[in-house]
Amino acid sequence: MSATPRLHVAPDLAAGTTITIDGDQAHYLSRVMRLGPGDAVRVFNGRDGEFAATISEAGKNAVRVALAEQTREQVATPDLWLMFAPLKKDRTDFVVEKAVELGVAEIRPVITERTNSDSVRVDRLGRIAIEAAEQTERLDVPPVREAQKLWAALEGWAETRTLIFADEAGDDTGRPWGGESGRALPLDAMLRGLRDGPAAILIGPEGGFSAAERTRLRGLPFVRAVGLGPRILRAETAAVAALAIWQAIRGDWRG
Ligand code: SAH
Repeated sequence: MSATPRLHVAPDLAAGTTITIDGDQAHYLSRVMRLGPGDAVRVFNGRDGEFAATISEAGKNAVRVALAEQTREQVATPDLWLMFAPLKKDRTDFVVEKAVELGVAEIRPVITERTNSDSVRVDRLGRIAIEAAEQTERLDVPPVREAQKLWAALEGWAETRTLIFADEAGDDTGRPWGGESGRALPLDAMLRGLRDGPAAILIGPEGGFSAAERTRLRGLPFVRAVGLGPRILRAETAAVAALAIWQAIRGDWRG
């Protein structure tokens, strides 16, 4: 555990150069953390790895930071997107924070038939993503895209990207949760039969997907419907569980 503050910054990074940090981050460093000349920080920008650095000047609106050596090289993030139907504000925040911690490459809110949420504030979610990336030692910040209708988001889909559709229901409309018939393959079994490659996980809203959405999704050539066990999970739990299992079987949790 390192106590040295770690910041995501915009400028290019190279040893021996000096960058300027302004806005909220300058305020955070000089006022909140009370750091000044000579204090150590670490910086990353999503492209150039991570650098050890020292504050050379600290003002209220701008902090100058002198870059010393590169401490980590940039590594590629596994090509996994999270697509999820936005939830209530605090639950959406939770999903974004956990998705960043769990190493997604991109976050794409999608509006489904039963999506029932306040408007999605992508700028605010982007800030949550930056904070989570700073805290979790990631070297990049996954972009949070503008919310799109589900079918619009799937238009022009590159078919090499497997869309992992978390589908809790069976097909029997007369039974609770659609009974046992037509249940999807468990996620771990599906992933073990899949080659490594780009993927996206799709999680529905609290009200689930409609029958029409399920049928249409299952008919798409790049979609694999999967189950996440015998219990119905809240959407945010389903997102965290599915991301963790993908990282363990197809992602960077492997040895
Ligand atoms: N259909 C339910 C619950 C939806 S749960 C209802 O009508 O209330 C929210 C989302 O989490 C689902 O759309 C699905 O994507 C995912 N999910 C939850 N439990 C799951 C499970 N056991 N298997 C697969 N996906 C699940």
